[in-house]
Formats: sequence, structure tokens, C-alpha cells
Amino acid sequence: TNRTFTMIKPDAVANGHIGNILAMITNAGFRIVSLKLTQLTVADAQAFYAVHAQRPFYGELVDFMSSGPIVAAILEKENAVADFRTLIGATNPAEAAEGTIRKLYATSMGENAVHGSDSDENAAIEGNFHFSGREQF
Ligand code: ATP
Repeated sequence: TNRTFTMIKPDAVANGHIGNILAMITNAGFRIVSLKLTQLTVADAQAFYAVHAQRPFYGELVDFMSSGPIVAAILEKENAVADFRTLIGATNPAEAAEGTIRKLYATSMGENAVHGSDSDENAAIEGNFHFSGREQF
């Protein structure tokens, strides 16, 4: 098995979707390795999305991601990174497949309910940023 890292973003937390999203994740066969409600500082969000620093939406993305509480989690499953990205659906909810988390809960391209790591390497970096070894079960 391998691991991915997810955040339930501030929009989905504020809209009351934590429970439904976690249910979809566990029903899809992911084991919860780590889980917490937390909030990104502006500096955290800038660092997390540094790869997008030159994009026009970067400022908006940093403001949004630091605007309120998120749920951070490490998840485990065979083929975790790819299967999780399938479960969440396309970045733009208008293009997300039926039954995906973003189709159900995202409101826009920017406020799109969830994050999923794009590689095993990034999953480990992102998970270790939020959780100590003792918090990874
Ligand atoms: P994530 O990294 O959150 O799982 P992703 O891999 O589907 O998302 P990326 O292209 O890496 O998408 O973009 C990261 C995040 O930046 C998106 O999830 C979205 O919140 C935001 N974003 C991407 N493109 C736009 C855009 N054109 N306008 C506004 N926000 C955007």
C-alpha cells in the first residue's frame, strides 16, 4: 500500500461537509493514517502552493486556503495517489465526473472542496509537514 495527503478545504469545512467527505473517503477503501482540524497560516499556504507562485490566481489561492479551518489527513490504500485523484475529480467542478467529491461539494475552480497530492513524493512531504511520526498510525 502507499499513502496520499488530503485537505478538506475551507469552503467544504464552512459548508458542513466534513462528515460526508470523510465517509466517501473511507467508503472508497482508504484507511485514515492521520487526521486533524487545523488552519494554514498565510506563510504555510504560500509555501504549500509555491509551485503556483507565478500564476494569476496565486494570491487568491493563498488567501482562500488560509481563510479558515481545514481538515488535514494522511490516507493509505493501494495506488493511493491516483485512486484519490479519481475519487476527488477534476480541478474544475464543472468538469468533474458524477459521484466525485468535487462534483458534489466544490463551488468553483478555486473553492474546490479538497486537495489531493499529485505524487508519492509530494504526499510524503505534505503529510510530514502536518503530522509528526507519532501522529501517523
Ligand atoms: P490540488 O493541488 O488542490 O489537489 P489540483 O492538482 O487539482 O488541485 P492544481 O492545478 O495543482 O490543481 O491547482 C491547485 C489549486 O489551485 C486548485 O485545487 C485550485 O484550488 C486552485 N486553482 C487552480 N487553477 C485555478 C484557477 N484557474 N483559478 C482559481 N484557482 C485555481
